[in-house]
Amino acid sequence: MKMKFAACRLSKSVLPRNYELHLSLDPENAAFRGRVTISLESKKPATRLVLHALDLSLASVVVAGRRLAPSKVVVDAKAETVTLLLDSPLKGRAEVDIEYSGKMNELMRGLYKSRGKNAGKEEAWSFTHLEPTHARRFLPCFDEPSFKASFELSLDVPAGLTPLSNMPSVSDTVLDGRRTVVFQKTPKMSSYLLAVFAARLKSRARKVGRTALTVWAAPEQIVQADFALEAGENALKYLNSYFGIPYMLPKLDMVAAPDFASGAMENWGAILYRDSSLLIDPKLSSDAAKRRVAEVVSHEIVHQWFGNLVTMGWWNDLWLNEAFATWLAYKIVDSWKPAWKVWDEFDQS
Ligand SMILES: [Zn+2]
Repeated sequence: MKMKFAACRLSKSVLPRNYELHLSLDPENAAFRGRVTISLESKKPATRLVLHALDLSLASVVVAGRRLAPSKVVVDAKAETVTLLLDSPLKGRAEVDIEYSGKMNELMRGLYKSRGKNAGKEEAWSFTHLEPTHARRFLPCFDEPSFKASFELSLDVPAGLTPLSNMPSVSDTVLDGRRTVVFQKTPKMSSYLLAVFAARLKSRARKVGRTALTVWAAPEQIVQADFALEAGENALKYLNSYFGIPYMLPKLDMVAAPDFASGAMENWGAILYRDSSLLIDPKLSSDAAKRRVAEVVSHEIVHQWFGNLVTMGWWNDLWLNEAFATWLAYKIVDSWKPAWKVWDEFDQS
């Protein structure tokens, strides 16, 4: 029987408020372990909690301080959910604590394994791509855009890799070959905008108003970062003024990945790009390549407001995000480089 899409939607009577997430990544073995504590609120007495989860192994589940027997944790792979059967009804605020593990895939969905380089040899890196419904491959969660919640993340990675996420770090320690970074709590946001990266990266940064704008790329590519930094500065300044609401996070990272499913993804504060959509070789790249990078960078920065700060309730209105970001990116690039006459190509984009 064909499953109706609506059957996969979660009930609105239980709302997530905060995710406290501890993650340990092992890119070489394409493996990760996590522990998530979800603070939630149940508006009416609930005898079951339904979360999204896909291809994750749940080791232990504790609800409101009581550990659930394995028979009370029901995974439905087809619906991409896990149902927690409770002994007594839950109402009001509570915490769900889940220890779990997963495998990084090479399909560029969820947390995926990427092939980077270190001193000429292949090295495993990790990136997330969670839009539209891949956060559930990364952590048990309420994986729909209207379920906004804050995220408090700590990330443990091999010491040679740089860990990045949506927010700046508050602590950073290296011990026994592992690097552990704790990040500031995010504002309330949709699960598809969460970002977790671990790669061998160098950076070029500048301050734009109150925002630390940084381009990250592999060490041998970082000399190609300057054009994206200029385009990003231009777009940020334009949009701070255009919207009348300054960019709302303390930092904005733009990260080049060696493999990525689309041109770019607008994760809040940590935009991920296919390297060819971000980097410009000052000697070799054509004007057409620069136009393309300027448009993609501007488009993703528009999404920081239109999509990230203000989000569609459901995916049927995604066209609003994309139409507005596409149109406004042309407006930004045209005001920056009028000689490019980018509007002449608008109907072909
Ligand atoms: Zn877009």
